[in-house]
Amino acid sequence: MTESMIPQANPGAGYLAQKEAIDAAVQRALGSGWYILGKEGEAFEREFAAWLGTTRAVGCANGTDALALVLRGMGIGEGMTVATVSHTAVATVAAIEMAGAVPLLLDIDPDTYTMDPDELRAVLEDPPPGLPPIRAAIAVHLYGQACDLDPMLEACAANGVALIEDCAQSHGATLHGRKLGTFGTAAAFSLYPTKNLGALGDGGVLATDDFELADRIAAIRQYGWKERYVSAMVGVNSRLDEVQAAILRVKLTALDAGNARRREIAAAYDAALAGGPLAAPERRVDAEHVFHQYVLRSPHRSDLMARLRAEGIGTGIHYPVPVHLQPAYEDRVPLGPAGCAETARAAQEVFSLPMYPELTEAQVERICAALRGLAG
Ligand SMILES: *Cc1c(COP(=O)(O)O)cnc(C)c1O
Repeated sequence: MTESMIPQANPGAGYLAQKEAIDAAVQRALGSGWYILGKEGEAFEREFAAWLGTTRAVGCANGTDALALVLRGMGIGEGMTVATVSHTAVATVAAIEMAGAVPLLLDIDPDTYTMDPDELRAVLEDPPPGLPPIRAAIAVHLYGQACDLDPMLEACAANGVALIEDCAQSHGATLHGRKLGTFGTAAAFSLYPTKNLGALGDGGVLATDDFELADRIAAIRQYGWKERYVSAMVGVNSRLDEVQAAILRVKLTALDAGNARRREIAAAYDAALAGGPLAAPERRVDAEHVFHQYVLRSPHRSDLMARLRAEGIGTGIHYPVPVHLQPAYEDRVPLGPAGCAETARAAQEVFSLPMYPELTEAQVERICAALRGLAG
């Protein structure tokens, strides 16, 4: 094989695409002499909130912390349950336990891989016995596409339960023309290097229209300080540093174009799969997908992945083991009435193609040719 391997993810390419501007931003941050919670972080928070369309954004150390900070800021913790899905990054569930609450794991709709809104309504109206009261639901907009949010928001509102959005994979995706992250009480974004908006290290940001909530969270992220050296409340340490904030300000300017390029690549994959045995990912109506991942499913996954690998094409699995079947959670975390059956099935069959804006036309064509070859 003479052609080089095309990796499934490639955060280094995102750096190289904006190298000059990023290097200059890093130099500026380093030369400022101020490294934690300063001008770069404040500017990033302002620019991110303006881009998203919320009044406030608060930076923090990573996406897991962003979710946990939202829960803490809302007073959700011990003696309360938070409903979410098992088909997600383990971080979603870890954040609920970090806040001290009990995670209740619900099943997914097998076509879109996002929470089944009927099961959410069922547990809110008729909570499983023995669980603390359900106070919030975390909607995970997985792979870059909106959950079935309308019925979820309706069920939450009808039962006095807050809806929080996990936007770690959906920066820029929309529903009814409105950006995800503006529907719930608050939204959490990961800025991990491979995410649609990625730092070159760890980072997270949360967004809300609730000023008081944002102020409380801004205090909690730094020891509960409102005034230096005086903790007004119990806090943690979860800050976004100035170097990452400066890098993110550059990366934010390329996010919309990067998402458009991801959609273009997805359309090319769709065309290559048309008429073959593998179904292209389902798109929700009146929503814009930002393809954090382009996910296919097949009972013959390992064979297909091996054939793609032989053609120099990397693939990934998001995620091979659902949270409720991982050793740290199995037989311990409560499940909804569906028992996460569709989740367990999906975990056996899903696999993800290479997806990042820096894929070249030649690489996309190589991948498309390999996809057409799978039909034979
Ligand atoms: C990446 C991710 C997170 C966690 O983000 P970190 O920055 O790695 O802590 C949370 N939820 C989902 C759905 C993710 O994909």
